[in-house]
Amino acid sequence: MTYLAKLGELTLKGSNLHEFERLLVKNTKDCLKDKDVQVTLHAGRMYIDCKEEDCEIVEFTLNHLLGITGWAKTVVCEREIESIKQAVLEEAKIQAEKGCKTFKIEARRSFKQFPLNSYEICCETAGVVEDLMKVDVHNPDCIITVEVRERAFVYCDSKTGCRGLPVGCSGKGLLLLSGGLDSPVAGYRMLRRGMKIECCYFHSYPYTSEEAQKKVEDLAQKLAYYGISTYLNIIPFTDVQMVIKEKAPEAWSTLMLRVCMMKVANMMAHRVHASCIITGESLGQVASQTIENMSVTEHFAEYPLLRPLCGLDKEEIIQTANFIDTYETSILPYEDCCVLFSPKHPILRGKVSDAEEIYKNMQVDELITESYKNRVIKKFNFDGTVEQISE
Ligand code: ATP
Ligand code: MG
Repeated sequence: MTYLAKLGELTLKGSNLHEFERLLVKNTKDCLKDKDVQVTLHAGRMYIDCKEEDCEIVEFTLNHLLGITGWAKTVVCEREIESIKQAVLEEAKIQAEKGCKTFKIEARRSFKQFPLNSYEICCETAGVVEDLMKVDVHNPDCIITVEVRERAFVYCDSKTGCRGLPVGCSGKGLLLLSGGLDSPVAGYRMLRRGMKIECCYFHSYPYTSEEAQKKVEDLAQKLAYYGISTYLNIIPFTDVQMVIKEKAPEAWSTLMLRVCMMKVANMMAHRVHASCIITGESLGQVASQTIENMSVTEHFAEYPLLRPLCGLDKEEIIQTANFIDTYETSILPYEDCCVLFSPKHPILRGKVSDAEEIYKNMQVDELITESYKNRVIKKFNFDGTVEQISE
């Protein structure tokens, strides 16, 4: 079987185009590493040849692969009109059986020496389909595409790809992944710009349950389908939270929790060679996400703090969560640590100088280092396997 994928934004790249292409092919091969497949690139198209039994995994891969605008399962035939007509007829039979009554042919000819032009290819091939379906160029039930390139390709049912850039071309970021709706979407947004991500989850057992952790693990797995693999660092944060509760003014507890998370994130980012920290914050969504409070959090970050959802509203975030299939997991009712320790009247416009003072008074540095050291690391792979990593 052959699949054809169209490269997206990549084709806009200049001299380093080949690097991006190589990465896309490498990523595809990594996803299909135990399968008997051949992945090749030719003039802005990537081809995957595979066995019938691997079609499902190849399609799953193409549905999650970043860097392609679309894909289709295609029939490959000789570059001459009789073979093309035969392939179009076969494809038309399948579509007619599925109940299609009308069709349209779209032909492209990038091999310019081919004796017929695109219009002539359309006319010739449409002729063999007309016994099965009627032509309708405006609103057809199916579109049969013919591409004459280094070989000839005939396909129907092309699917939309995820677009974006191949993962790995934009360095690495550390994602603060909670069980909520926002942070997985934030991670996906950065993956889509080619950034590899490593995740960090702050767990306050027993105040946050095993189920809450399981939920984050499930989300990390979903991100691994796009990122090919991802690490999840689970940071035991109960002790730090207890100190915050005891020593910080109640109104500041959520913001101080964010500050302490940043402190660990700095260590983590350094450890894994990430060049930025990513959160799911969105301006004005909750009290800790006013511009003033976001500035406080930012002040304690030693790396660029990226907030890809900053200007999005909840509806837009939910749309992406549905697309990447994290929505159902994210809305499961297990509490996250912020809820249990949230103040009744959180501070809305925290000042950096106050934050520094409060942080200093908490004397929590040692505990923070301790929590970082006691982290548990899991690696989630594209094939759904999970590895426990020890350092
Ligand atoms: P989310 O839906 O991603 O949980 P949220 O709207 O609930 O976001 P907050 O709870 O204020 O917002 O968290 C803001 C950001 O801080 C999150 O998007 C996430 O990046 C990070 N964060 C919050 N709690 C945790 C946690 N327990 N572990 C890791 N990161 C967290
Ligand atoms: Mg949350």
